Amino acid sequence: MAANTISLSISSNVAASKNLSSFQSRAFIAPPPTISFPAKSKPGELSLSSSTLSKSRVRAGASQLMNEPLNDQRSFSSPTVVEVDLGDRSYPIYIGAGLLDHSELLQRHVHGKRVLVVTNDRVAPLYLDKTIDALTRGNPNVTVESVILPDGEKYKDMDTLMKVFDKAIESRLDRRCTFVALGGGVIGDMCGYAAASYLRGVNFIQIPTTVMAQVDSSVGGKTGINHRLGKNLIGAFYQPQCVLVDTDTLNTLPDREMASGLAEVIKYGLIRDAEFFEWQEKNIEALLARDPAALAFAIKRSCENKADVVSQDEKESGLRATLNLGHTFGHAIETGFGYGEWLHGEAVAAGTVMAVDMSYRLGWIDESIVKRVNKILERAKLPTTPPESMTVSMFKSIMAVDKKVADGLLRLILLKGPLGNCVFTGDYDREALDATLRAFSKS
Ligand code: NAD
Repeated sequence: MAANTISLSISSNVAASKNLSSFQSRAFIAPPPTISFPAKSKPGELSLSSSTLSKSRVRAGASQLMNEPLNDQRSFSSPTVVEVDLGDRSYPIYIGAGLLDHSELLQRHVHGKRVLVVTNDRVAPLYLDKTIDALTRGNPNVTVESVILPDGEKYKDMDTLMKVFDKAIESRLDRRCTFVALGGGVIGDMCGYAAASYLRGVNFIQIPTTVMAQVDSSVGGKTGINHRLGKNLIGAFYQPQCVLVDTDTLNTLPDREMASGLAEVIKYGLIRDAEFFEWQEKNIEALLARDPAALAFAIKRSCENKADVVSQDEKESGLRATLNLGHTFGHAIETGFGYGEWLHGEAVAAGTVMAVDMSYRLGWIDESIVKRVNKILERAKLPTTPPESMTVSMFKSIMAVDKKVADGLLRLILLKGPLGNCVFTGDYDREALDATLRAFSKS
């Protein structure tokens, strides 16, 4: 066993359910104590199979959508609810079209009478009035302040964060207030961190408005800002009171942002949900075309997967790291090529192809998986190779300081076994990594 790999092994080989609605009743199935798949798992690998949706629960809604026609323009007056199960910090994720018109959903999670909405100058003209209306309709006792930050990853910093605190202090918000994040992942991460630290912690609600935020960043409580020496280096784990996903907000999202978010959707299928991946292969064009039923299903299923992982490993002692498939290579691309050139999901897509290529070189997956991954990412209009300017030495030097390096050993998330199974390990042949880097970049 390689030194410094994770000694915990969790795997479940329960056959993936054919009937997806059974997720509605499946709850709290403890993972079996022994490794059942992959058969060749070694101590030190954290393996995850496609059927481990054990702790998150779906209370209502769209599970049946998988087998139904996608032109079904159903009304989501009763939203789908995915529960993130974290004991006394559990919370619901509401998913549906037009949810910002359902003021009672938001209002039931507002604590106190004062609310601060944190958003940016791109999202505010689109959804701030609607959000304030949802918070105050029929509820005259609540007053809402707002702070509008400049748009962009480059403003995810301490100076911009101070604007949130300035507004909160000037408005004399006390501990009984609620912060509301209205925007993509940048706003969600910043508002969450502000809520975690203002007066040592106030209530917090997420209203994510990008695919990336709706399927990933708003769920699980990772909040934070960037430091000039690295991304997301300052932050806190801090869970919201609820996440409200109004899929109508995606109608204003640019196509490129849309595709970028789908990279994270595809990730869930690859690492733990083969059936979901197969569904994506049939419906990727419907997702790009923003078919409401397809989007609702993909967001719900992604949130179920994320909620399940977070419920088992909130603070990323192992299992949660598997959500980073392709991110180590992708982060090297973002850093090497320059932040802002490629969107996060675009870099993750190329990184995923590289992780899959390496898994194949190790003999851990069939060639058919390599082909399927390339194909679905191409159809999603995502890059499948890194930018030409990336060199082997750039990859190596940036990956050497990845957060998943432990005592000099780079641990990676790699696919292993049938589709829907992955490992988080530092126990792999270094030659396979070198071969992948050489195959995808200039030496
Ligand atoms: P983003 O927040 O920058 O949003 C992308 C762009 O879309 C921005 O210009 C934004 O203003 C705009 N936008 C947002 N909603 C819109 C709408 N409905 N219509 C039109 N435009 C809209 O980027 P993102 O991809 O949402 O998130 C990326 C961020 O999320 C990164 O900072 C990343 O570190 C973070 N992240 C965090 C986690 C986590 O677990 N906390 C996970 C993944 C990513």
